[in-house]
Amino acid sequence: MNPTFISAESISRNFAEVKAGMKPKEAVEESNRCLYCYDAPCIKACPTGINIPSFIKKIASGNMKGSARTIMDANPVGATCSRVCPTEELCEGACVLNHSSKPILIGNLQRYATDWAIRNDQSLFAAGKSNGKSVAVIGGGPAGLSAARELARFGFAVTVYEAKEQAGGLDTYGIVSFRLPQDISLWEVEQVRKLGVRIVTNTRVGADISAEQLLERFDAVVLAVGMSKVPMLGIEGESLNGVFDAIDFVESTKASVRADIAGKRVAVIGAGNTAIDAATCSVRLGADRVQIVYRRTSEEMTAYDFEFDFAKRDGVEFRWLTAPVRIIGDGNGGVAAMECVRMRLEEKDGKRHPVPVEGSMFVMEVDAVIKAIGQTRHLPLVEQLGLAHKRGIVTVDNETNRTSDPRVFAAGDVIFGEGQGEAMVVSAAQQGKQAAYAIYKQLVELQEEPT
Ligand SMILES: Cc1cc2nc3c(=O)[nH]c(=O)nc-3n(C[C@H](O)[C@H](O)[C@H](O)COP(=O)(O)OP(=O)(O)OC[C@H]3O[C@@H](n4cnc5c(N)ncnc54)[C@H](O)[C@@H]3O)c2cc1C
Ligand code: SF4
Repeated sequence: MNPTFISAESISRNFAEVKAGMKPKEAVEESNRCLYCYDAPCIKACPTGINIPSFIKKIASGNMKGSARTIMDANPVGATCSRVCPTEELCEGACVLNHSSKPILIGNLQRYATDWAIRNDQSLFAAGKSNGKSVAVIGGGPAGLSAARELARFGFAVTVYEAKEQAGGLDTYGIVSFRLPQDISLWEVEQVRKLGVRIVTNTRVGADISAEQLLERFDAVVLAVGMSKVPMLGIEGESLNGVFDAIDFVESTKASVRADIAGKRVAVIGAGNTAIDAATCSVRLGADRVQIVYRRTSEEMTAYDFEFDFAKRDGVEFRWLTAPVRIIGDGNGGVAAMECVRMRLEEKDGKRHPVPVEGSMFVMEVDAVIKAIGQTRHLPLVEQLGLAHKRGIVTVDNETNRTSDPRVFAAGDVIFGEGQGEAMVVSAAQQGKQAAYAIYKQLVELQEEPT
């Protein structure tokens, strides 16, 4: 192990936002490139349907508050999304200018407008007149906040129950600070709180208050608890010091500096966005060498292309077709190495399955192992609520987000999987909105209709 020293100041600097915001001149010039298409394809490609040409035109004419309002009206976490959306697959990918020059930098312009609102401490929306009904939202991540914001605008009395100290979900605790500083997410939380939404933190539903109590006290419930811990690998040595859950690992870097990775050789298991985030965090914490270990190839990896490029630029190495077999201890409770096996892909039922190559075991010398092989589900809570689900993935109606219990709606990562939903902040926000609209329709509109 290399006895590298890296100061806390250097680590803090490494975790500062990587991408600079646009300068005013750049933003206006970029806005003026927009063709303001009629029936703009970018609007359809944005899961929250932001009126993109409209917010861009407002930047061009200097109406910054109007621009931020247009964005945040459609997307209650629009400041976060401007930084974390895979724009090349969504809005920018649909821009007609892709055919002739380069797409409008929609994400950057969205950031420019929302950063203005944050800097100028704007309150963009007001709560609606009380309709006498109440809703509990379980989970204060992007899905829960989005539902809460829209419900408050419809005049519901909304209480968000959040297990952690602060709301914002993975925007606050999970997505690395150098792409998404915590302040951005916390500003979005404040926008929701300012509408009179009660955000009860440090309160885990199912432990501190029961699901049953919520169903008794509120007219409807929105379940927006996301996903849970990284599953166990099921190999020897997993409980050694120096073996981490990637979600907890990234979380530990969001609000404080950790010094225990400097000079270490780190193996990250998995090749999704979480694995990339854990790997790039390790680099920035001063790790000596960071290797991503994945049992398939770059073709099957689920990380976005921009994340993959980012990791390569950070010097992260990729060990394709490699699977861990056991983690070897150093005799003092820590990690000394990881035994791996090489894999090959075998065609079966039209799919390529990884299988171990006989006699190909080898040992990688590592000091830390970070597990990033997906996330488990909040099964006990889903079962307490008595909802239909597939392996913990709550089943919903696609348009209303209503679950098998008509009083309960679900949005965000809790419904992602088995061909349903997408694990993205922007889709969580949209599903939260959909749940709010369906609750309004069910509890207010349909009740008012003459019989
Ligand atoms: C490391 C990482 C990087 C990512 N990067 C990106 C990215 O670049 N772009 C992108 O679009 N998406 C990204 N994602 C995915 C994105 O963060 C999620 O899809 C999104 O946050 C889902 O929102 P959610 O509200 O459903 O869940 P979450 O954000 O997980 O929020 C759920 C909230 O519920 C709370 N909760 C859980 N159980 C309870 C309970 N019993 N009682 C009360 N509260 C509870 C949790 O504490 C949490 O605050 C990333 C995810 C990870 C893990
Ligand atoms: S929310 Fe995301 S997808 Fe929608 S316009 Fe903004 S950056 Fe594009």
